[in-house]
Amino acid sequence: MDKGGISGFVSITRGCDNMCSFCVVPFTRGRERSRDPQTIVRECTEMFNTGYREVTLLGQNVNSYRYNLSAKGEIRDDNLPTTNFAQLMEMVAQVSPDLRVRFSTSHPKDMGDDVLHVIAKYENIAPYIHLPVQSGHTDMLKRMNRGYSREWFLNRIEAIRNIVPDYAISTDIITGFCGETDEEHQATLSLMKEVKFSFAYMYQYSERPKTLAERKFEDDVPDALKKKRLQEVIELQLSHSLTHNQSRIGKIGKVLIEGFSKRSDDDLTGRDEQGTKNVFTKGTYKKGDYVMVKATSCTSATLIGEVVELVPPHPIQQIELK
Ligand code: SF4
Repeated sequence: MDKGGISGFVSITRGCDNMCSFCVVPFTRGRERSRDPQTIVRECTEMFNTGYREVTLLGQNVNSYRYNLSAKGEIRDDNLPTTNFAQLMEMVAQVSPDLRVRFSTSHPKDMGDDVLHVIAKYENIAPYIHLPVQSGHTDMLKRMNRGYSREWFLNRIEAIRNIVPDYAISTDIITGFCGETDEEHQATLSLMKEVKFSFAYMYQYSERPKTLAERKFEDDVPDALKKKRLQEVIELQLSHSLTHNQSRIGKIGKVLIEGFSKRSDDDLTGRDEQGTKNVFTKGTYKKGDYVMVKATSCTSATLIGEVVELVPPHPIQQIELK
């Protein structure tokens, strides 16, 4: 934990039990282990007491967090309480209403409605979900060993739309994975058009040693084609990011101030509930304040706005550790 930090990370799981065929994590970080929820809540409380106002709960697949529960849901030790991810988020959200809670990364196959209802229930849980799709075609998702279909993913998007107000969804996309056909690439573009992600991390496939893909498939999409497809994906995403930000002009977001803008010491910057970077005139505000910012213009990456109100801090700023 950095002294003077505002936004920090707390690991809740280590390792991964999934076997996505392009990924080396299961071989380098081992089986998934979930931390004791009490130690996680304690760490978040200590961070709050030293001035942090945002925590991101981190894991390769946070939705499969389970303490004292087997993968099949059986209780391991009758003398200990059980905790799943929805319950853990609720425990962390209750540390303080002034502590914003984020989480990453969610796996579409494990994203249940219980987590979405908890996001909707707490004002301090950011309604921003990073849900990596990787591809929009079910055959490709099978080769990637992702454990869900295009229809399943779209069903989860529908659930977010129905349960979480004012949400934002970002994703990861890989182009040119082994055997990718033009039809599969077009399916990724059509899924992007259907969902309209607010943001995406986009990569062209590059084979990693020791992965299932290295053993099972040929890395057979020519480099130039991988690049061309990636470019198409990037261009489409940039237009969606811009449309998403344009739709927020005139609206007010709650921004946690992280510091000065890179471009000017007269401006401050911070992220709103949806994880979008906001830039605004500094006025008398300071790092760690929550301010309500009305967006007046934007780029595909940033909202530019003006502060309409300082959010008064909650009266309790030091919490007793249990
Ligand atoms: S991509 Fe993520 S979920 Fe899949 S194996 Fe790697 S770490 Fe696990």
